[in-house]
Amino acid sequence: MEEIKQIPNGPVQGNTYVIGEGESCYIIDPGYDYQRIIQYVKSKYKFVKAILLTHGHFDHCGAVDEVASFFNCKTYMNLEDMVFIDSPTKKSQSPILGMTIKLETPILSLDDFNDDNIIVLNTPGHSKGSVCFWFKKEKALFSGDTLFSVDIGRVDLPGGSMKEMTESLKLLKTLPDDLKVYPGHEETTTLGKEKRTNMYLSRI
Ligand SMILES: [Zn+2]
Repeated sequence: MEEIKQIPNGPVQGNTYVIGEGESCYIIDPGYDYQRIIQYVKSKYKFVKAILLTHGHFDHCGAVDEVASFFNCKTYMNLEDMVFIDSPTKKSQSPILGMTIKLETPILSLDDFNDDNIIVLNTPGHSKGSVCFWFKKEKALFSGDTLFSVDIGRVDLPGGSMKEMTESLKLLKTLPDDLKVYPGHEETTTLGKEKRTNMYLSRI
């Protein structure tokens, strides 16, 4: 029996998600409160299959070092968003001052991630490397800061683009209505409801 847990955390209340089945789980966007995330995960699961990041903003990956080292697991992201992360594996410093976060954990490319149950959708617009994770069996879409309940993510930050966001929303519109949407901030929704009530989706 699979289970999805939402853990809102941090000053900007980013949603961390834990998607478990049996003895193992995935963690999406460990943003801030690593003690709470670790406490919850270790009370329910024996191991973590991987940490998956919807994008590279600090409020989505701020707790990666603590969580990845505690569970000894790999972390995957679309590497376009490495511009937001200062990491020892990078040769030069990240160029976007004021928006970067320092992480020691090696960040691996989602191109090398493989799970038959998970479709990675490239959805740039909020950032170049923004993705959504579609968990097929769970009928769940983890939409990061691309799609929110009756809203969408900001496109005015570095790497953001309304044009790309529009294309990404068009792609999300092709997915089934009964998908439950788990956004990077605030409450969950369904794709069917967003197609009807979210003006950003309904007008394209
Ligand atoms: Zn963001």
